[in-house]
Amino acid sequence: MAKWFRQIVFGDVDAMFASAAVVADPSLAGKPVAVGGPPPRGIIAAASYAVRPFGVHSAMPTAHALKLCPNLILVPPDRALYRRLHEQMRQVTDRFFPATEWSSIDEFYADATDLQLLHPDPAALGRTVKDALFEATGLRCTIAVATSKPVAKLAADAHKPDGLAVIEPGTEAAFLAPRPATSLSGIGPKTAESLERIGVRTISDLLEPRFESPLRRMWGKRLPVIQALARGIDDDPVVPDREQKSLGHETTFDHDTDDPAFLEKTLRGFLAELAHELRVEGLAAGSFTVKLKDATHRLTTKQHHFPKPLNDDPMMWRDIRAALLSLMAPRTKYRLAGVTLGDLVPAMGGLFDQRRSRALAAMDAIIEKHGTKAIGLGGIREE
Ligand SMILES: [Mg+2]
Repeated sequence: MAKWFRQIVFGDVDAMFASAAVVADPSLAGKPVAVGGPPPRGIIAAASYAVRPFGVHSAMPTAHALKLCPNLILVPPDRALYRRLHEQMRQVTDRFFPATEWSSIDEFYADATDLQLLHPDPAALGRTVKDALFEATGLRCTIAVATSKPVAKLAADAHKPDGLAVIEPGTEAAFLAPRPATSLSGIGPKTAESLERIGVRTISDLLEPRFESPLRRMWGKRLPVIQALARGIDDDPVVPDREQKSLGHETTFDHDTDDPAFLEKTLRGFLAELAHELRVEGLAAGSFTVKLKDATHRLTTKQHHFPKPLNDDPMMWRDIRAALLSLMAPRTKYRLAGVTLGDLVPAMGGLFDQRRSRALAAMDAIIEKHGTKAIGLGGIREE
């Protein structure tokens, strides 16, 4: 077999949360299972393949899903279970690949370019990884092998569920050609509308000379980049996601203090920055540690688990503030304070509370531009 100049493996668990519910309770196998919150306000977080023919899909209000599929078995989300399964899958991918990028709790990219001597047949490699993931977790996943990340992802999407796809070098453009132009990454709903207006539907249309001038008007200098993508050319590397298990910040004050308001303001500022970092990295923290060192250098700490992994600092602050206040002793001055967020796991992508995620996304945009002070959190750094 000819050596590929680059070989990317993409894996995606089929209906992760719904399949996890079956792993936890095998009697649910083949039944119309969906994971989500109860009506009237709950939404469906994941629908099993058994309920998809009814039109039930994720992000749909549970009340509506129950109308479409009255026999629906609704299972509450179980984050501890997802976390355990994710860790088990990570152990498998770490065993096979030198570098893996988990882009979400159930999707990974791995660079297999240097493994071709060991695994000369990409289909056999894909099959082996797929079987190993199933053996470790009981979860079925779809795996695709291609020369770039976007082609591997689109190939997996086209072969779900329980699929295995290999897009040989040189066949990328032919594979992409008939697919909707909107399936290329970076084409949002607004661009999709403009494409529709000028009559561009498929990825091959993006390369048609007759659409060249309207497309150039739309995209200008970006057009060649999009056309390269349409041919399946992309060199975005696999970047191992952060192995870091905790994230923290602490400071030693210029003057020892016993002012609770000052200590609260300090930790609140640190938390805002740390939580922002988590959201940027797509992570959530399962626990936190508050640390105080008094004027005599005696260190006290308090560690707690959040009720569920969080990356939303207004929600995290309640518990952290309570821990700080309980840690403070009367008539004691402190020289150092810090907070660490631990048990970092991939965030759930805001599936469970979309409104809140939008508010946070807006806040993150402001923080990126102006820093945490801009939203009145008073981040204090004294180092
Ligand atoms: Mg998936």
